Amino acid sequence: MELAAFAERAREIEAESADTAIVEGVTDLLDAAGADLPVVARYVQGRVFPAHDSTKLDIGPALCYEAIAKAAGRNVTVDDVEDRVADVGDVGAVASSYDFGGQQGLAAFGAGAGAGDGDGGDGLTVAEVDAELRDLAAADGSGSHDTKRDILFGLFNRAGDDEARYLARLVLSEMRIGVGDGTVRDAIAEAFDVPVEAVERALQVTNDHGEVALVARDEGIDGLESLGLEVGRPVGAMLAQAGTVSDALDEWESVAVETKFDGARVQVHHDGEETALFSRNMEDVTDPLPEVVAFVADALDGPAILDGEVVAVADDGSPLPFQEILRRFRRKHDVAKAREDVTVEFRAFDCLHADGDDLLDEPLTERHDRLADALGDAGAGALSALTVTEDAEEIADIEAEALDADHEGIMLKNPESAYTPGRRGKQWLKRKPDVETLDLVVTGAEWGEGRRAELLGTFEVAAPTDGGFAPLGKVATGITDEELAGLTDLLEPHVLREDGADVDVEPAVVFEVGYEEIQASPTYGAGYALRFPRFLGVRDDIDPTDADSLERVERLADQQ
Ligand code: AMP
Repeated sequence: MELAAFAERAREIEAESADTAIVEGVTDLLDAAGADLPVVARYVQGRVFPAHDSTKLDIGPALCYEAIAKAAGRNVTVDDVEDRVADVGDVGAVASSYDFGGQQGLAAFGAGAGAGDGDGGDGLTVAEVDAELRDLAAADGSGSHDTKRDILFGLFNRAGDDEARYLARLVLSEMRIGVGDGTVRDAIAEAFDVPVEAVERALQVTNDHGEVALVARDEGIDGLESLGLEVGRPVGAMLAQAGTVSDALDEWESVAVETKFDGARVQVHHDGEETALFSRNMEDVTDPLPEVVAFVADALDGPAILDGEVVAVADDGSPLPFQEILRRFRRKHDVAKAREDVTVEFRAFDCLHADGDDLLDEPLTERHDRLADALGDAGAGALSALTVTEDAEEIADIEAEALDADHEGIMLKNPESAYTPGRRGKQWLKRKPDVETLDLVVTGAEWGEGRRAELLGTFEVAAPTDGGFAPLGKVATGITDEELAGLTDLLEPHVLREDGADVDVEPAVVFEVGYEEIQASPTYGAGYALRFPRFLGVRDDIDPTDADSLERVERLADQQ
């Protein structure tokens, strides 16, 4: 495809504002792309390389302006170009306003240098541009600035107005013609008559719009369905939404609960011998994390793709804040020195591929089993503990433990869910911390059982009303054994009546209580009940009559 034909269609697409018209424009473009289909499918959304490929052009505005100035002729300086871009706000418009062509000397293209007229260009093809830009990206070392500028100059020198417009925008990652991932997905489906779900799926596993377009056109749906994960080619990380324990228990039959590690996401690709690590943005972070590479090489026997988090740890193994990890990620040089400063460890929570099997469609619990198998004994320390439960109290206990160990909190996952690369679905929830807490008065309690028979365990909490106290629920979670002993000592002197395990206590002690939701409830006199109340602490600075009133509870319930 000629670059001029690409540019003409890009201009038409840019002029559209309705999504359907944009998809139509891209559909026509893909249809007309011929042998250059993979490149065109990327360029139209402003990508030179596939999303999984961390190769960069590494062209800054200054270098691009230099190439433009040179192609524009003797009278144009870099400063001129810069000023005009500042004025107009679009490098494409500025590039297209010059009359390129015929500038000799630096031309990288011997034959055909010189577009001559401003409109027509010089028969530059998309394939030629692609080959040149790949050479440009490969330029490295001391002379690379000049090499890059010369290659760009060579391209501008052959470009007509519109070609220059989109070339300049492409190399500076400023395509901005309203075409996103979703547009190209829909256009591929439309152009080659394949179901959009099949295209979406193929994009998720390959992360390469070019390849997917080509396979859709040449091999149809069967070809798309045969595309799979490839060790060494990163896919988007599955993402989480904020959510509550009630959300999870309402939506799913049971909940898989896991520690939320405070680190940085890493996808591990191991082909049986070599290891590559990718960040959440699919950047290659293998070099800055040699100890993770060493760990993986030791733990994994066969090929695998694992998902997890890299955490920074203190000497005693406790987690350090996330910022410490970033220091390691950014480090390109002197990795050994950085290793001395911050020790990192891998925590694995998912397995996308093991021993030749793509596991994306397997349920989470199955993938976690495969993860445990893949890590084996050598890697067991990195395996996240996954607890499947229907019990809100057990979830609260796991959360309390995670927080006690200085982790960020917990993740709630649907045990049955598939792995959907790059999607923020409702199958993974990061548990929202309680927003508001309530200070409530303890009006009753229950003696524990077994080991805890000597301890008061479940506490009825209530809000002061005009004439008394209105119970709102029972708090039994979030309390450690030591805290229970302390609370028993605190409350025993206030016990008014005992009936079996149940005790009434005089309103004297105030608890700070966390909860997820205030529900209307016929069970409690107040007409409200707290969903998943948790003990957060004793407010010994507050008198029972000054605790949060029923009125405030009502107000909070209304605001929900
Ligand atoms: P956030 O960054 O707040 O959107 O939270 C989601 C992120 O938590 C994920 O992208 C992971 O990097 C991280 N994370 C930590 N622990 C886990 C876990 N057990 N499962 C999934 N994601 C986790």
